Amino acid sequence: MRLLIMGPPGAGKGTQAVALARRVDGPHISTGDIFRDNIGRRTELGTLAEKYIAAGEYVPDGVTDAMVRDRLAEPDATSAFVLDGYPRTEQQVATLDDLLDARGASVDAVIELVVPDEQLVARIHRRSAESGRLDDTDEVVRRRLAVYAEQTAPLLRTYADRGLLHRLDGTGDLDEVRQSINLALGV
Ligand code: AMP
Repeated sequence: MRLLIMGPPGAGKGTQAVALARRVDGPHISTGDIFRDNIGRRTELGTLAEKYIAAGEYVPDGVTDAMVRDRLAEPDATSAFVLDGYPRTEQQVATLDDLLDARGASVDAVIELVVPDEQLVARIHRRSAESGRLDDTDEVVRRRLAVYAEQTAPLLRTYADRGLLHRLDGTGDLDEVRQSINLALGV
C-alpha cells in the first residue's frame, strides 16, 4: 500500500507513520527526518534546508521534490511506503502524481490526523524539551501552524475529491489512534 499521512505539526504523524509502515511492510519516509539528517551531517542539502526549517517555512519545492524522487526510486519503496510530511504544497501533489504515474501506480489512501490547535501547541511544548528541534520554539510553531493552514490544509480537499481521504481523530492515546488508522485502512 502506498500511503500518505497528513495533519498539522504536533498531530502525531511521525509516531503513527512508523507503526503503519511496519504494518504495510514498506519504508517510513519523512521529509522532515531526511532534512534533519542532512542538517546533522552538514551536507549541502542540509545547509540549504536549515534556514527555512528554523524559520518555520517550507523548503522550496524544487529541492524537496528532487529529494523525494530519489528516495522513492530506491527498491524498498517499489510497492509500499508511508510518506510522512509530503506532499505539503500543490506542486508537490503534482510531482508525486507524476512520479507514481510513471510507474503505473498511485496513492492508495491518505490519513489525516485531526487535532485542535490548542492541543497541538501543548503537545509541541512537551516535545520540545526532549526533541531539541530547532523549530519547536513558540514563535516558529505559530508560523508552522499558519503555513500548514495556508498551503497544506487545502490539499486535503484534493484527496477527499479523489475518495482517498480518511479523516481521523488524532487526540486519543497512541494505541487508540493506531487502531483507528488500522481499522480505516483494513490493515
Ligand atoms: P516535519 O518534521 O515534517 O514537521 O518537518 C519539519 C520541517 O521540514 C518543516 O517545517 C519544513 O520546514 C520542512 N519540510 C518537511 N517536509 C517538507 C515538505 N514536504 N515541503 C517543504 N518543507 C518541508
